[in-house]
Amino acid sequence: MSPILPSRHQQALPLEKLVLDEAPGAEAIEMDVLFVGAGPAGLAGAIELARLARADQESGGGLGELNIGVLEKAAGLGEHNLSGAVVNPRAFRELFPDLTDADFPFRQRVDAEAVYFLTEGASRRIPTPPTMHNSGNYSASISEMVRWLGEKAEALGVNVFTGFPVDALLVKDKAVCGVRTAPSGLNRDGTPGSDYAEPTDLTARVTVLSEGTRGALSQAWCEWQGVTSPNPQIFALGVKEVWKVARPLDRVIHTMGWPLPSDVFGGSWCYPQGPDQVSIGLVAGLDYGNAKLDVHTLLQCMKLHPLFREILAGGELVEWGAKTIPEGGFHALPSRRAGDGVVIVGDAAGYVDVPSLKGVHYAMQSGIYAARAIFAALKKGDTSAAALAASDRMVDASYIRADLYKTRNMRLAFKDGFLLGAAKAGLMTLTGGRFPGGRIPMHADADAPRTDGGETALVPDGVLTFGKLDAVFKSGNATRDTIPSHLLVGRDISAEVADFYAHLCPAGVYERDGEELRVNPPNCIDCKATDVLGPRWTPREGGSGPRYRVM
Ligand SMILES: Cc1cc2nc3c(=O)[nH]c(=O)nc-3n(C[C@H](O)[C@H](O)[C@H](O)COP(=O)(O)OP(=O)(O)OC[C@H]3O[C@@H](n4cnc5c(N)ncnc54)[C@H](O)[C@@H]3O)c2cc1C
Ligand code: SF4
Repeated sequence: MSPILPSRHQQALPLEKLVLDEAPGAEAIEMDVLFVGAGPAGLAGAIELARLARADQESGGGLGELNIGVLEKAAGLGEHNLSGAVVNPRAFRELFPDLTDADFPFRQRVDAEAVYFLTEGASRRIPTPPTMHNSGNYSASISEMVRWLGEKAEALGVNVFTGFPVDALLVKDKAVCGVRTAPSGLNRDGTPGSDYAEPTDLTARVTVLSEGTRGALSQAWCEWQGVTSPNPQIFALGVKEVWKVARPLDRVIHTMGWPLPSDVFGGSWCYPQGPDQVSIGLVAGLDYGNAKLDVHTLLQCMKLHPLFREILAGGELVEWGAKTIPEGGFHALPSRRAGDGVVIVGDAAGYVDVPSLKGVHYAMQSGIYAARAIFAALKKGDTSAAALAASDRMVDASYIRADLYKTRNMRLAFKDGFLLGAAKAGLMTLTGGRFPGGRIPMHADADAPRTDGGETALVPDGVLTFGKLDAVFKSGNATRDTIPSHLLVGRDISAEVADFYAHLCPAGVYERDGEELRVNPPNCIDCKATDVLGPRWTPREGGSGPRYRVM
């Protein structure tokens, strides 16, 4: 088999579908500020903005009542969010200065932690790398955090619309002036069915793109406006399970090594989530070389390791899911994350620090800064790029930029393999990021060639290990079977490329059928991995996808 270059088989971003130079329809709903995506970033931003507006009104500041909307594609809050999660509470504390840590929607404080290097049958405890210390942090379910933040936002008068995916940005000249939602009730062939509901247009003075990892609209806005970054954004895929367990887990666990091959960047986690629940997952960088690497299957194998088998013994799988993580760090941040009538926050901008495995508090903090910049812009009556650039300036003067700068080359050092990468990362930690200086250049994940390195064989037992269809069932996915495909498959997909997609997708959306690629769009759980390496993901009917409760 000759190497597969994923970018050769990928369609271009459908810019003409995602950015519409059209006037909003006559029935358009008028809002002042719209947040696209109800994750930690969007909800923290909406809360801060609603508070600032309320204080302004109470003090007779003259801004008047603000109409703030949050549009979320999931049917219910928290159902499309996935995280580890061990959370740094600092953004919660900043957003809710009157509350204590005990009031926040966390499961438990991190009291003990351990890092192991795994081989197939054994584990060796290694010193915790300085970037991975979690003392003072809390384990949590992101679905619960998002539901809690959503309640706080609604209590402040924010309109939270769930089941409303944004399909496109509405633009005029260089400015974003609103959004169009996805239609629902289409037949498989794209014609309107009996339950058809038209798209809705919403106008806004500022639209905040808080759509999370590999955001379609953020990618489109950057491309449309020619906004680039020194390195392309790169991604990892994380597959996660929540288990009910017989005995409480007494520590936060991270592992390196097996089951990932030595040329793959990544590792695993296992976090206690209260007395009878754990979160367990495996993350792998999407620049891996083996065309048959399958993160879902590797996670299943990992649970057979004595370290995890003991933790899960007598337990039961509660929920399963997957999502990508933006891993490019400082050098992959877009040169600007604000434009005329628009600001990008959270994972959509790439505010994730991979060496510490953290994104939630950066997402919230960036949402808070965006809200402050938008409030000031509305007060001045100027929502131009120049006015909204205050959001970037606040991020760049904050711990978000400082943290990402300190670890700027760490993930990138691993592009030449795990062992060399680990040695370089150690030196970077010792020198506070000064070694090797400069920027390690990186190619896009889709430009890394793949060769057939063989597949991992596993027959799921349905007790500890599960196949992809059982896993998708455990995500709560309730997508209509007759939905049209939202996945844009490239041309000339050979049997080998079909096989590559089948191994890549954790949800069994792609299958190799003889020499052909078969696609099962309803299985999709919006992890976005194939948007990075294969068929493009586009927004689809509201409420499709997973229904996570405790992710
Ligand atoms: C496997 C994994 C483990 C992680 N572990 C940790 C950890 O332990 N600690 C930590 O701090 N961080 C962790 N992170 C990172 C953290 O989860 C993210 O940084 C954080 O969730 C980002 O928040 P966000 O609001 O930007 O995006 P999200 O939480 O992804 O929220 C974005 C929202 O936008 C919605 N949306 C997307 N597109 C549209 C659209 N077109 N229309 C309407 N709605 C849309 C989505 O449905 C979603 O609800 C982890 C991430 C992963 C994937
Ligand atoms: S098809 Fe859906 S579930 Fe499969 S990799 Fe792509 S985004 Fe993820």
